[in-house]
Amino acid sequence: MATEMVYQIKHVQKAFGDKPVLKDINATVAQNQVIALIGPSGSGKSTLLRCLNQLELPDSGEIDYFGKKLDLSQSRSKDDQTPAVGMVFQSYNLFENLTVLENVCLAPMRVKGLSEDEANQLAEHYLDRVGLAEQAKSYPQQLSGGQAQRVAIARALAMKPKVMLFDEPTSALDPEMVAEVLTVIKELAEEDMTMVIVTHEMNFARKVADEVWFMDEGVIQEKGEPEALFTQPQNPKTASFLNKVL
Ligand code: ADP
Ligand code: MG
Repeated sequence: MATEMVYQIKHVQKAFGDKPVLKDINATVAQNQVIALIGPSGSGKSTLLRCLNQLELPDSGEIDYFGKKLDLSQSRSKDDQTPAVGMVFQSYNLFENLTVLENVCLAPMRVKGLSEDEANQLAEHYLDRVGLAEQAKSYPQQLSGGQAQRVAIARALAMKPKVMLFDEPTSALDPEMVAEVLTVIKELAEEDMTMVIVTHEMNFARKVADEVWFMDEGVIQEKGEPEALFTQPQNPKTASFLNKVL
């Protein structure tokens, strides 16, 4: 049997005003695949990721999610995401007045109707998984940026997503905290989580991704296995970008 496709992106276009931001995007994400989405600032990476989570709507084209057409007539708010799609942003967006544990419990209780006990158990499990079991009773202000981002990851995982979308998860972090967050994401990759990761961490993309998409000017200019794309880019635009960042 063919591998099940998590996403099939077909001819997706989007403009903001008269500025085209996504131009005829075609791509697929297979189950257990890890995609690294790279490219210069303003190239449309976040917009594409947000389309996958229906936070943005394409103007035209189609996105299939597990073989079913997504309803592209209405966008979601940031608080009302597809429960099966976990999203982690550059900013952690934790509730400052709730403990770490409560932050992770919130959605499982509110969205999935888990009891407090069930949610606590689940939250403890995922906090342990990101190495923060000891911080369960802390408040977000007491955490470092790296810890806060790991809580954000645990919070997403607690919804048992079928796919995780990361938008520059380490870009807001002090350099010494980048590794601890990348390690958690790498472990998820090793456990076969399906992921699309927008990142400027090229070494990470090269090591962890199954496939890299290079985006520029609203176009996926090149897709390929990391080794091939990083060492023998076929598109001069990819080569020029890599020259600047490597
Ligand atoms: P990237 O994530 O690659 O930096 P984005 O997807 O954030 O790129 O943005 C692509 C282009 O779309 C940029 O020119 C940006 O200014 C523009 N853009 C993004 N979001 C909006 C919006 N909500 N309204 C208007 N323009 C936007
Ligand atoms: Mg972005």
